Amino acid sequence: MSELEKRYRERSLWLDQLSGPLTPRASLQGDRDFDVAIVGAGFTGLWTAYYLKTLQPDLRVAVLEREIAGFGPSGRNGGWAVGGLVGSAKTFGIAHERNRRLRALRATFDAVDEIGEVARREQIDCGYRKEGALTLATSDPQWVRLRARAADSGGEEEDGRLLSPAEVGELVAVPGVRGGWLVPHAARVDPARLVRGLAGACERHGVTILERTAAVAIEPGRVRCAGGTVSAPVVLRATESYTTQLPHQRPRYLPLYSLMIATAPLPDEAWAALAWRDGLLIDDSHYLFFYAQRTVDGRIAIGGRGAPYRLRSPIDPRNERNEQVRARLVRTLARAFPAAADAPLTHHWGGPLAVPRDWSMGIAFDRASGLGFAGGYTGHGVAASNMSGRTLADLVLGRESDLTAMPWVGHRSRGWEPEPLRYLASTAIVHMLGAADRREDATGRPAHRVRLLAPFLMPR
Ligand SMILES: Cc1cc2nc3c(=O)[nH]c(=O)nc-3n(C[C@H](O)[C@H](O)[C@H](O)COP(=O)(O)OP(=O)(O)OC[C@H]3O[C@@H](n4cnc5c(N)ncnc54)[C@H](O)[C@@H]3O)c2cc1C
Repeated sequence: MSELEKRYRERSLWLDQLSGPLTPRASLQGDRDFDVAIVGAGFTGLWTAYYLKTLQPDLRVAVLEREIAGFGPSGRNGGWAVGGLVGSAKTFGIAHERNRRLRALRATFDAVDEIGEVARREQIDCGYRKEGALTLATSDPQWVRLRARAADSGGEEEDGRLLSPAEVGELVAVPGVRGGWLVPHAARVDPARLVRGLAGACERHGVTILERTAAVAIEPGRVRCAGGTVSAPVVLRATESYTTQLPHQRPRYLPLYSLMIATAPLPDEAWAALAWRDGLLIDDSHYLFFYAQRTVDGRIAIGGRGAPYRLRSPIDPRNERNEQVRARLVRTLARAFPAAADAPLTHHWGGPLAVPRDWSMGIAFDRASGLGFAGGYTGHGVAASNMSGRTLADLVLGRESDLTAMPWVGHRSRGWEPEPLRYLASTAIVHMLGAADRREDATGRPAHRVRLLAPFLMPR
């Protein structure tokens, strides 16, 4: 295996397990012309290319990717394709408009089904299984917060159900549960198989994917790369957290890392003891919450936030593994899923999330300059990026649709404070949320000091 392929496989359990070689596609050599140039071959860029090309097959669409398709968080995430607003209803101006909020929610729910539909149509074998997501509460303060979250979710009765400990026990055996919230609009996927399969589907529809092709400047009408320039009247940015590495974009997002671990495949007896319904996604209500999936090949893949932020290199491969976060995830695994406590761990990895200043995603396209973007998913981009792809395609093709009328279209978050304030904010967030969890776990009483973080967290 080449050093390069080894580097790609080391990025996640999912990339490591892909069958077939991870050989980069051709790079940009010299100058080329397209109708649409998309920078970034993660879910956002590839879904956009996919829908543009399927809606208008004669369009010449190129996706430019610095590494290989799915190199970023799209090939590394927890595999939760889940509906729900990616941002604050207040920020989107729909907190008090029940119907608009419902329509917005429905659009996110539809994205979960659409991913399954495309996977079926394009024969992308990504382990898609829609069994819903269960959020657990394991202390009284968590249970209070979870009920408030459920009440404030804006959905209808069938969009989520609070469960008693006994009802939770029918789905999974987790010790010390106070209650749960089950939402049906969620599917488990293997993200690398989905994103790589999507890249293949794009190519079959005639999209040109240029890999090992880094954009150094995104400008109206062109993308400048080391190997040449791509000229196109429409240029779309789909670089999520990496956007902050582009000229003048540093304050746009806070790049916050999420890290994961995976066990080896568990024996049948362990799955019997866990009584975890296959496909069901599980997370919890700690401030530094965990999210977990039962993988297609019978492992537990579990992740959480809390990695420290490096002032000088907020995006850096060294941030992808962290002993403290790993140890916390191991403790979480043992506490929530005791039958897996002694399972060998085979993988530890992570990636950067893009957190906008108001924690709310945005999609925009400016017809005059031909520039557009989608992103700022704060770690919830698997389903949202599908919606972004369809929305950007409609915007570029001038099609007015329900999606182009969504409240996140045209939404632009203000930038983060300059360093070292952004560093201080993110360090404070991680420390105070961790301390609040420890206090609540130890005392069973709510940690009120966490409210001090309100100016830096999502507006409610
Ligand atoms: C550990 C982890 C777990 C997560 N779990 C979940 C989850 O379970 N559910 C969920 O909804 N979300 C989850 N997320 C978030 C989710 O993965 C992202 O929101 C989503 O993948 C974003 O997709 P994207 O295409 O916008 O960005 P990315 O996947 O980041 O893709 C951007 C691409 O752009 C490329 N690029 C960057 N700069 C340049 C450049 N200058 N020129 C060319 N190419 C460039 C990158 O190499 C990358 O491939 C998780 C993230 C992480 C890190």
